[in-house]
Amino acid sequence: MPILPANRGLSTASRPKAQDLSSNAIARLAIAGLLVAGFVILWAISYGNSITPQGIVIHHSSVMPAIIPPGAQAYGRTPSDLGAWDEFHRIRGFGVFYWGHFYHLGYHYMIFPDGTVKPGRPEHCVGAHAKGFNSYLGIVLVGDFSSKSNPTGDEALARPTAEQMRALVSLSRQLRHRYSIPMSHIFRHSDIARTLCPGDRFPYGEFLRQIQ
Ligand SMILES: [Zn+2]
Repeated sequence: MPILPANRGLSTASRPKAQDLSSNAIARLAIAGLLVAGFVILWAISYGNSITPQGIVIHHSSVMPAIIPPGAQAYGRTPSDLGAWDEFHRIRGFGVFYWGHFYHLGYHYMIFPDGTVKPGRPEHCVGAHAKGFNSYLGIVLVGDFSSKSNPTGDEALARPTAEQMRALVSLSRQLRHRYSIPMSHIFRHSDIARTLCPGDRFPYGEFLRQIQ
């Protein structure tokens, strides 16, 4: 019995045409090319926004400036949640793209009066909290600890709470250990810029003593 060709018996209509095959292949190649290009762009931008943390800069949040539109949740007062500050920094254009996300809050961590620590942007994402020191990790304590900008304590929390300081010390110790950060790379914002931040009521000496 003669061996028939494998495609014998298929009608002409059901046989894939060479033309269809080549257009399918081209479409697949185009999609693959776009995916690769997209990944390369994503990688390049994210790599450019990556840091190896060099140190720590401590901030206070102060009060929300009137830049936030009236009616917004945190207008004219100290915000009680991270979302309000995230929105404020979005308006100020602090956002960076990092592995599929836009991060707006310029700090890496935010510490609330009850000692709650909330992550802002990832530790390996460049900060937007201190000019020239954005390869340092920015930690902000909610409150205004300056006797100049907040003399009566009416504007915001006047000094860090015990819970905030405990959380700050614990977090700073972990970060120092994780990135081998020397004590000479622990700053207040006012040590590296013309600012009152984090205020004269921030117990810097005591903080340094506790994280050694
Ligand atoms: Zn600051």
